[in-house]
Amino acid sequence: MKCDHCGAEAVTFIRYNGMHLCAEDFSRFVEKRVKREIRKQIKVYPGEQIAVAVSGGKDSMVLLKLISDVFGERNRVGVHAITIDEGIEGYRPPSVDIVRRFCEKNDIQFHLRSFKELGVTMDSIAPLSRDSSPCTYCGVFRRRLMNDEARLIGAKYLATGHNLDDMAQSIMMNFVRGDVERLARLGPHERVQPGLIPRFLPLRLIPEKETLLYAIVNGIEFWDGECPYWTEALRNQYRSIVDELEDRSPGSRHSIVSSYDTLRPMLYKEYTTSNLHLCKCGEPTVGKRCKSCDLLADAQKKLSNL
Ligand code: SF4
Ligand SMILES: [Zn+2]
Ligand SMILES: [Zn+2]
Repeated sequence: MKCDHCGAEAVTFIRYNGMHLCAEDFSRFVEKRVKREIRKQIKVYPGEQIAVAVSGGKDSMVLLKLISDVFGERNRVGVHAITIDEGIEGYRPPSVDIVRRFCEKNDIQFHLRSFKELGVTMDSIAPLSRDSSPCTYCGVFRRRLMNDEARLIGAKYLATGHNLDDMAQSIMMNFVRGDVERLARLGPHERVQPGLIPRFLPLRLIPEKETLLYAIVNGIEFWDGECPYWTEALRNQYRSIVDELEDRSPGSRHSIVSSYDTLRPMLYKEYTTSNLHLCKCGEPTVGKRCKSCDLLADAQKKLSNL
């Protein structure tokens, strides 16, 4: 098959718009949409800092590459990669090395934080979390350290690598569970709240398959190992539902996200809290103690009962 733009050998067929594209035109197609999203979501000026949450997987490595291309030296905006080591032997160390190498080569400041600072590791918590998925602890602790590091850096924004599939799944999941408040908080964050570095999501309109192909055709190294604690989570059900919808009618994922975008201003007005205050650990919270302090106390109790 030939590229519909230039006639060179095509590497992919984009089903939702019916185009065959070669590696170069495909890369341009991805970059154009990511740059448009960045412009739409944030405003940064020379001398300011932005942080990027990077696990070393395909999405976050593509994100880091594109952000460092956009905010290179020319714009004089500081780009910082933050990686969190959850303490999962054999899984996290190789991906940390990939991120570190990429940062060294591309002159990006690399920041590593670890669950050990909180006195836990996922290898110690996972066997104890029988009634709840280990991912509950992992996600909450990761967000806490990520937010804390972004705050220390003085970052104006924190970028995360959520792709179109992630977005469509999260929207469907919160919608079906009736969790409208969480739906309102999905991001990108439009309001600056005390202690919370606003997140932006440059890949939110790029399908997962395209981030993978972009990484491959651009020679971006990434880690594709699977976490040993990955369980058949609720999200997997929504992954199948969204995949099936997309299969039957190409463009469904885009429609889910664009319907959400239309509703977002209303959700925002109704649900986002303006009365956040700081927990004693420094994290923003609605209640007295933040979720991560609650879960940490719970994990420490379980660990001391061993
Ligand atoms: S799968 Fe769960 S435990 Fe493993 S890294 Fe992801 S959130 Fe953490
Ligand atoms: Zn082409
Ligand atoms: Zn706290």
